[in-house]
Amino acid sequence: MATTERDYYEVLGISREASDGDVKRAFRKLARELHPDVSGAPDADRRFREVAEAYEVLSDPGRRATYDRYGHAGLRRGGFQPTFTDFGSVSDIFAAFFGEDLLGGAGRARSGRGGDVQAVVEIDLEEAFTGLSTSVPLEVAEACERCDGSGAEPGTGTRTCPTCNGAGAIRRVSQNVFGQFVQQRTCPTCGGAGETLESPCERCGGEGRTLTTRRLEVEVPAGIADGQRIRIRGGGHAGTRGADTGNAFVLVRVRPDPRFVRDGDDLHTAARIPMTDAALGSSIRVPSPEGDVELEIEPGTQPGTVAVIRGRGMPSLQGSRRGDLVVRLDIAVPTNVTDEQRAVLEEFARGASPETYAPREDDDEGFFGRLKSALR
Ligand SMILES: [Zn+2]
Ligand SMILES: [Zn+2]
Repeated sequence: MATTERDYYEVLGISREASDGDVKRAFRKLARELHPDVSGAPDADRRFREVAEAYEVLSDPGRRATYDRYGHAGLRRGGFQPTFTDFGSVSDIFAAFFGEDLLGGAGRARSGRGGDVQAVVEIDLEEAFTGLSTSVPLEVAEACERCDGSGAEPGTGTRTCPTCNGAGAIRRVSQNVFGQFVQQRTCPTCGGAGETLESPCERCGGEGRTLTTRRLEVEVPAGIADGQRIRIRGGGHAGTRGADTGNAFVLVRVRPDPRFVRDGDDLHTAARIPMTDAALGSSIRVPSPEGDVELEIEPGTQPGTVAVIRGRGMPSLQGSRRGDLVVRLDIAVPTNVTDEQRAVLEEFARGASPETYAPREDDDEGFFGRLKSALR
């Protein structure tokens, strides 16, 4: 059952038009203010649950749509139950956000590698052909400038954790009918480090990192294909207290180009030529990602002929080799002929013999061969 009947947008202090990013930012800010570990306010626990529940609904597009249309009652009918009953420590909240321990924990002296981040760039086939330099905005945690990432207010150090006296763990002794049991768990104050900050940095609150939006420079190599990822070492979140920075992964989406079907580094396209060009030979222009290229049409070219223009496809990511441009030729037969043209064609037909239509010497595939390759 829902634990609050307050309007979720009001709880997070955002408008109904707020973007996913706004929802996340509002929740992050309120969570850091209201978490019972941090806030001394008597109603912090209740308010924190309210905020967590609002986030759980508004951060999910399906739930948000249901709530927008049918309100709390609609969510209950749909079987929604808030799962944020116990979120653990402040750092666990951020772990839930970013998949890793992003901001350490206030007052802790633990260190850890920064999390990875992912971004997406969408490019055209032409851009995939040439490669390009671009920049994408990323929200990342960076080492705090004031404390140089240490989390300690400049001029101060660490002291032994008062909760665990430096052991990093706390023991609890319990008694039941079978005897005495000792349970051990990681110290919640220092996260197992055994020491806490004497005085947390004023700017980052002891986390050693601050969140900033940064533009990440990305070199997209020529020949990249849709769905490939570029790893940028050290482009992710800063680690806590001097630990390694995470990586950024840039997912490349190549927009489909209606003129081509890509097959590895080869590009397939189609061209339609008049039957007279097919019979007499000609030269046509076919599209390629670097502009139109010329294709020689041999006299006696048959429907379904596949012409391969070597080395005019996509560049290969490995080395200097390029794929091929593969052109399937369709022969256009006239659909509207004038009386004059009809007379010419009739005269041609009268003069034609089986020899006129004899297969070309180099056409070793023949009609059925082409049919088979078309079906392959
Ligand atoms: Zn700081
Ligand atoms: Zn401790």
